[in-house]
Amino acid sequence: MIRGLFVLLVLLVCLTGCREEAKIQDLTREQNALQLKVDSLNAEIKKEQNIADNSRIISDTVCAGEGPFHVFSRLKAQVANGDEDLGKVYLAMQDSVEFKLRVGEKFYVMVDSNNRVQKFRYAVNPITIHMVSRTDTGFVYQLVEKPVVKKQSIYEGVLEEGSTLNGILFKVGIPARMVGIVSGVLQCKVAFPLARARDRFRILLEDSYYQDSIWVSGKVIYAEFEGRIVGHHEAFRYEDVDPRSSYNAHYTEMGDALIFDGLRYPLEHLRITSSFGSRIHPITGKRTGHNGIDYGAPAGTVVHAVAEGVVTVSGYDGLSGNKVAIKHRDNSVSWYMHMQSRGVGVGAKVSPGQAIGRVGSTGRSTGPHLHFGFKNAQGAWINPASKTMIATPKLAGARLARLKEQVKEIRKQIELTLAAPAVRANDSTDVMVRMRSLN
Ligand SMILES: [Zn+2]
Repeated sequence: MIRGLFVLLVLLVCLTGCREEAKIQDLTREQNALQLKVDSLNAEIKKEQNIADNSRIISDTVCAGEGPFHVFSRLKAQVANGDEDLGKVYLAMQDSVEFKLRVGEKFYVMVDSNNRVQKFRYAVNPITIHMVSRTDTGFVYQLVEKPVVKKQSIYEGVLEEGSTLNGILFKVGIPARMVGIVSGVLQCKVAFPLARARDRFRILLEDSYYQDSIWVSGKVIYAEFEGRIVGHHEAFRYEDVDPRSSYNAHYTEMGDALIFDGLRYPLEHLRITSSFGSRIHPITGKRTGHNGIDYGAPAGTVVHAVAEGVVTVSGYDGLSGNKVAIKHRDNSVSWYMHMQSRGVGVGAKVSPGQAIGRVGSTGRSTGPHLHFGFKNAQGAWINPASKTMIATPKLAGARLARLKEQVKEIRKQIELTLAAPAVRANDSTDVMVRMRSLN
């Protein structure tokens, strides 16, 4: 009997204990689940805070007389593994970015808590930003373009006794590069020494602004001059389908190129991968001279003679690969190197724009490109970019039809802009300006 009671008691205790234990287990499970939730929330918050707290932005500014090498050197010293990582950053962007540094320009590097490079940022202007980011597969380049506000302005005025068109446009505050374009295209038709007081001019400019007020870029859409002696002349900006087309330039309404004594471009599509002159490699710091312009282009792209002349070299060497030299009437010589094939032999007479070979990667070259060099009559290498170049003296076919459409559009734009209220451009001239926003 006592024994039976004892067993019952044990059973009861055990049952209660088991029930207690089960309760505790349930509670623990609940608690664990809660803890997991809290942990994952914490992790999320931490992750976000890590970005805010532990990443850091390092910046460096270009000083007078400096190139990218100086900036990269200073940045390298401030980050972990700088030599290797910034080397990779440079590799990721070298084909897309040509550094033309101006004093005061800034480079930014974002580093993580270990001081390792996460992002690299180089802004050419407020809207064009070159960005390289670390990803699982390495550093990746990206071009970030911010939206701009476009405005068109018409400037109208007359020459006064003793004034020149250039002088007036400078006074108005138009950027020098654009003044140069206006006078350059008009000069083809207008003999400015014959321009007289009261001769009339009208130009249409299109400017791009960031955040409504920061000027980013501008172009000359239209220029007109009407003179008592020189007559009436107009220049229209033509835009090809391809924004890098060598045909993008100013023409008359009939498609005549408005360029004074120009060379033709050696390629139809222009992508400069290396320009003329001596430079310091951004990463290695080695100084190299470059006596021409490199244009990147797919292998097989047709290469054109830039002017009429006689072929004086058509051959191959280990450095330049397949090369052709053409001597022009004024004894200047154009050079074309690294070609896949040559289409002309020594002694051949070539006309401007004639096909003389195809783009390749022969000789000392790391990828298909055309090295284009230009020697003056004295035999010295000069910067080909200092020569004025045109794609063709006259647009034809589909391009001429496209120009005519654009001329119509430009005339419409002139009408619309002329409808805006006129104000005096500034106190120092009588030039009137009308402005309207395009977006
Ligand atoms: Zn080259």
